[in-house]
Amino acid sequence: MTEDNETTPAAGGSILVVGGGISGLTAAIEAAEVGYEVFLVEKEASLGGRVAQLNKYFPKLCPPTCGLEINYRRIKDNPNIKVLTLTEVEKVDGSPGAYEVTLKIKPRYVEDNTTGYDELIESLQTELPNDHDFGMSTTKGLYVPHDMAFPYKYVVSPDILRTGDAKKIKDALPEGAVDLDAQPKSMKINVGAVIWATGWTPYDATKIDNLGFGQYDNIITNMMMERYASSNGPTRGKIIRPSDRKEPESIAFVQCAGSRDENHLPYCSYICCMASLKQATYIREQYPEAKIYIFYIDLRTPGQRYEKFYKQIKEDENIFFIKGKVAEVSEDPATRNITVVAENAVTGEKIHQTVELVVLATGMQPTAKDNPLPVNLKTDENGFIVNDLDKGGMFAVGCANKPLDVVSSNQNATGMALRAIQTLVNR
Ligand code: SF4
Repeated sequence: MTEDNETTPAAGGSILVVGGGISGLTAAIEAAEVGYEVFLVEKEASLGGRVAQLNKYFPKLCPPTCGLEINYRRIKDNPNIKVLTLTEVEKVDGSPGAYEVTLKIKPRYVEDNTTGYDELIESLQTELPNDHDFGMSTTKGLYVPHDMAFPYKYVVSPDILRTGDAKKIKDALPEGAVDLDAQPKSMKINVGAVIWATGWTPYDATKIDNLGFGQYDNIITNMMMERYASSNGPTRGKIIRPSDRKEPESIAFVQCAGSRDENHLPYCSYICCMASLKQATYIREQYPEAKIYIFYIDLRTPGQRYEKFYKQIKEDENIFFIKGKVAEVSEDPATRNITVVAENAVTGEKIHQTVELVVLATGMQPTAKDNPLPVNLKTDENGFIVNDLDKGGMFAVGCANKPLDVVSSNQNATGMALRAIQTLVNR
């Protein structure tokens, strides 16, 4: 069932899922499909989370439409799930089996989504950074969050409410189609269990002083690469280097960019080795002759399937694996090329490799680390939520709990949906 943002009487035996990324979707659907009422809340204007930003994802290297559309269909077909976007949890009272949750629902401002607004959008002046593309493109103040948004609805950015664009929108649309004076609403629900699927945030690469992100245009992150390679991304799928939009002939991947580093993220982020290998295939599809250099400490390709993928990539004669941690980077101001400096851990030789584009394999940190939850949950020293299975009632799933890939997140979310159900059954 899609959202209508109206208060619904909460039934006993309901479950709240916080976060509409792949883990939250999975947990919500699993619980709903065995008959429990589920509230799925998402703070952004649409569901999809990080997966919606990827070009392809493991294990089958499908585009995100595959998994997301199936899940969206299951939600649409299931009257047990109530989706609330632009919604955050403000307060949780109670104990396992009987929580009262206060939600805050921000306005979408657009009430009528039946009309095509393309011409109006085109005429708006303000260009806002498009977060879905990590600021590599812009969006207008009236927009649909992205091509795979669910619900596929327009939203007005609060950033334009005091601008001429707001007036233009109000004047152009029929009476009742927008309410630019709308205020946040509060809503209380009663649930027996809460699943925290608050996901992950790419580590802020500007904090890694020696790797030049933010200083040199031709150093990007792995998530930016996902957006470049996506057909709905800022370059409509063409991988270019940012400074001059040139087709890159040489690319270096810098592994463990910020991960496994006491000054940044002390843990292994789990996904970034496989992400770089996958992105090497993106490059190879577009540039058969490009030279690809992968600088790594250890390559982590867990499980037979991933190991096989790694072996296939190794057969490519123009992909070079260098075991060595990158110590520094520099730019040639004339060519805007980047020189990566590392010590080869096998030969001891110091390597200076000049390339046209560098991709930092940045890791993941739990989103809840910098956005504390309104509940007192145990976390580890890195901000991942530690599940207290004896106490029950509240459970973290997916990357709110630990660094995981999509497959493992889904398995974890399914298991925790069962734990949430057990809380209801045993109360
Ligand atoms: Fe480093 Fe690979 Fe672990 Fe990522 S997955 S932190 S790149 S070892």
